[in-house]
Amino acid sequence: MTSTNLTRRRWLIAMGALGFGKPLNASVEALLAGSVNTELNPPDARGALERLKKGNRRFMEGVSRHAHESASWRSLLTKTQKPFATVLACSDSRAPPELIFDVGLGDLFTIRLAGNIIAADVIGTVQYGVAHLHTPLVVVLGHEGCGAVDATLEEMLHKPTELKYVGALIRLIKPGLKELDLNMDRTALLSAAVEANVRWSMQQLSTMPEAARALREKRVSLVGGVYELATGRVRFLDGVS
Ligand SMILES: [Zn+2]
Repeated sequence: MTSTNLTRRRWLIAMGALGFGKPLNASVEALLAGSVNTELNPPDARGALERLKKGNRRFMEGVSRHAHESASWRSLLTKTQKPFATVLACSDSRAPPELIFDVGLGDLFTIRLAGNIIAADVIGTVQYGVAHLHTPLVVVLGHEGCGAVDATLEEMLHKPTELKYVGALIRLIKPGLKELDLNMDRTALLSAAVEANVRWSMQQLSTMPEAARALREKRVSLVGGVYELATGRVRFLDGVS
């Protein structure tokens, strides 16, 4: 077989592994990198979550693979994309999902806004990820020390001081924090508020009629998580799935 044929064959197999041909047992990464130390594109939500957890473990342990960054992989992705999860995360510079989960180009369909808030455009983007890109899993990812959540607490504890558009973010976060005991220790309060805000975003997503139907029919799963700045761990929450 000539090298041209081999390259073409590898490309065809890779397309299959991405989900555009018959399912294959070989991993596209293994084929391209000559390595077996990799994972197939997960077929379902359970597999997608497992892949995120494994990647996060590598990241925590300082053994990230940084796969899916090569020129050959980029070349494959010019034809299409098949991300395995839609992730709604905060814009915080310390919490980029691709690094936290040790994934690469084409793996995640990512939305990042301060406070991982829900707004009409966000819902539309999540909907695109699920309906058009067929990601089996949606993750709402908050993080410790979130400035947007902290600013919301400040406003609840004191008085509105934020700029107009930051204030608009706060108005979207605030309803999810209304059950919190504001007399709690400030550090504990922020931790509780970050988790409450993740659950608030999940609740808003899961109660949209189309999303509720997709969840009921098990076409998609929804999970929440909180990223810990110091340990690098994503603590996944119980809840809607
Ligand atoms: Zn944040």
